[in-house]
Amino acid sequence: MSRACYAELLKLLREAATFSSVAELLAWDQETTMPPRAGAFRAEAKGLISATAHRRATDPRVGELIAACEADAEISGDPLAAANLREIRRDHDRAVRLPVELIAEISETDSRALEAWRAAREASDYALFLPWMEKQIALNRRKAECWGAPEGGDLYDALLEDFEPGTTGAELASVFGPLRAALTPLVEALAASPHGPSREPFRVAVPVGKQKRFNRELLRHLGFDTRAGRMDVSTHPFSTSLGPADTRITSRYTRDGFLDSLGTTLHETGHALYEQGLPKEEHFGLPLGQPMGLGIHESQSRLWENHVGRSRAFCEWVLPRLQRAFGSALRSRTVDELYGAVNEVRPNLIRVESDEATYHAHIVLRFDLERAMILDHLRPADLPAAWNERVRRDLGLDVPNDRVGCMQDVHWSMGAFGYFPTYTLGSLYAAQLWEALRGAVPDVDARLARGEFDAVLDWLRENVHAHGRRWPARELCRRVTGGALSHEPLMRHLEGKLRPLYRIDVPARK
Ligand code: ZN
Repeated sequence: MSRACYAELLKLLREAATFSSVAELLAWDQETTMPPRAGAFRAEAKGLISATAHRRATDPRVGELIAACEADAEISGDPLAAANLREIRRDHDRAVRLPVELIAEISETDSRALEAWRAAREASDYALFLPWMEKQIALNRRKAECWGAPEGGDLYDALLEDFEPGTTGAELASVFGPLRAALTPLVEALAASPHGPSREPFRVAVPVGKQKRFNRELLRHLGFDTRAGRMDVSTHPFSTSLGPADTRITSRYTRDGFLDSLGTTLHETGHALYEQGLPKEEHFGLPLGQPMGLGIHESQSRLWENHVGRSRAFCEWVLPRLQRAFGSALRSRTVDELYGAVNEVRPNLIRVESDEATYHAHIVLRFDLERAMILDHLRPADLPAAWNERVRRDLGLDVPNDRVGCMQDVHWSMGAFGYFPTYTLGSLYAAQLWEALRGAVPDVDARLARGEFDAVLDWLRENVHAHGRRWPARELCRRVTGGALSHEPLMRHLEGKLRPLYRIDVPARK
């Protein structure tokens, strides 16, 4: 009996995941190749398929089968099946706890709030958006109440669980607080240094066609399997997985921004390599074949973008290739200039245009403010003032209007509270994983300088990708790096690189 109930459960979940995969394909097509007038029907089709996937996953039969498997000693005694079952139970409980009326209200509010946000941002008038912000917060609180706070936790934790399972707001605050305290003086010192490098020498015109060819070639060098994925162009770069052996990424190009495209390609390739490394052939539709939360997913993109792509060794390898591919415009550029250019730090009001260091000031302030709003410590009406004050303190910038202030990001309008911190978690995990990787592959710099990326990829495959959702992120981190999540590795990485580049002589922090 035991084998039969487990096998039936796996079959139902695989079917649900196949419907989700079809919905993903429709979404991918919409972002890359769909003609503009097809939008209305596409929304209908996506809605229908997603609802079908949700119904399949929450079918009462799934609940019965989970209970039957849990009662079976043979299944709970097998570590892999038990890990699958634990995560299947978690997903199922969360999905069935939301009443259908609430799901419908959330879905309708999301699209109307998104429209309101677009108009309010255009007019730079937060007052226009405020009623929707209040509604989104109220809905998120209701959602969190349905899910329930973890023991000793609060409603924000219940929301965070959607994006970063097993992590609480208090844990994040205990890492983000010291990160902010260490980052703010570093950013101040960098801004005050007259020796900063510049990106300007690399703002040269390169035909988009040449850039695309270069990025495609780069993707293959990094280890992306082009027989199991492809790269296209979209306005907002993204990566998505459509099932076993089908991973899609996009990049975007401008004539004088080839360095931006290069960074984007490295970032999205990092996401894609993770997806390609998950054991999906064996576990499609099951937790063991799925990524472990957004933090670990983002750690993979940031590791390739920042620890590989912004290293001096990678610059050594890539510059001659860029010169060969892009011709005269880059002929006199040096490795030092390229290394400086990709590591320029310049506080920016806009999160998505920020550099590797100041980026986290943006995230920590969003985390603090969204958590305060969900926990009722900050009224949504007071958000702009609180935002502007933080930007002044942490980035040294004055916010001229809400369009480039608290209304710049789409997340809150779409009801996503608990999403932002995963970006910084990604960088924290990346830095911690990179230190462990360097210990295991001591000659990694020499390898990168020769364009040998397989040692990095193999290490990630074995230590991160192969495990799917077997362990929560913090547990995975402890197993792989030997320590709990900390701000220290990221600060060591940033200070070790930026202090010499900016010729800051102040002794490093203890
Ligand atoms: Zn990413």
